Amino acid sequence: MKASRRPLPRGAMPPSSLEAEAGERVPVPGRLQPVDAERVLMRTRVGEVARRIGQALGELFCPASCAGCGRTWLESRDGFWCGSCREGLPWIRSPKCPLCGRPFPKSPSSSDHLCGNCLRGEFHFQCARSATYHSGVVRDRIHQFKFGGRLHWGPPLSELLVETARREGLTEADCIVPVPLHVRRLRQRGFNQAALLGRFLGARLHRPVRYDLLYRFQWTDPQTRLHREQRHANVKNAFRVGNPQHVKGLHVLLVDDVFTTGSTLNECARSLRRAGAGEVTALTVARALPDWKEDWKEKSGDA
Ligand SMILES: [Zn+2]
Ligand SMILES: [Zn+2]
Repeated sequence: MKASRRPLPRGAMPPSSLEAEAGERVPVPGRLQPVDAERVLMRTRVGEVARRIGQALGELFCPASCAGCGRTWLESRDGFWCGSCREGLPWIRSPKCPLCGRPFPKSPSSSDHLCGNCLRGEFHFQCARSATYHSGVVRDRIHQFKFGGRLHWGPPLSELLVETARREGLTEADCIVPVPLHVRRLRQRGFNQAALLGRFLGARLHRPVRYDLLYRFQWTDPQTRLHREQRHANVKNAFRVGNPQHVKGLHVLLVDDVFTTGSTLNECARSLRRAGAGEVTALTVARALPDWKEDWKEKSGDA
């Protein structure tokens, strides 16, 4: 069965609504905006009861399926992944680099140690973590989410961010900043995948999400087909902090979908630190490793 025909995972909203939440909402003067109405409703006890009844009815008539296998029906307390799929996800575990989070699948019995890039002091963020390897069902869901516009995969992918942030102690940032897209890319794609992930993460961790601190003002080629050095050069000086006063002393948690060489996150962190941010940490759903495929195939039989 194709993923597009599956019922939407719980918490997923129609694309138009999510796009609007990604910073595209245009306020209409004199009218109560939908988000305001929602907040007012949530503040009241009646609103809370109504929300619970609505949720129960939704689960009764439109239960959510697992984001991995699509076969298991889940209740809201179960999250978006069934037990078996969750267990089978390619989670990143130790040994890994304590700074950039790079895993070392080729030496599973070693302890955590700095990677070559961190020994050379290449990164401007203090800590980066990814939930899983960029592989299997996670890679598929990210691809469908980002390039196929299947925005309903946003919450299941964000759930992996939430778990990792809690496990790795990344929940105390002053604000969450999704890696921004250039406005031209935003128009092409119609949404910023990092903004959608950040929005869900912010709601779950009760942290504010700031879309106005960091801008991507320089058009860059897609990073996908570039080598490490080309990636660094491609994003060099691509980002700018809107108002340095607004980031002064802040602990910022950057959010993106995939960490490959870290060039984009590193450039974001460099801009924020230069503008006076106190601490910059980074969190992505997946980590791509050039030498990873063979390791994982050997370990899990993943083809
Ligand atoms: Zn499943
Ligand atoms: Zn490292």
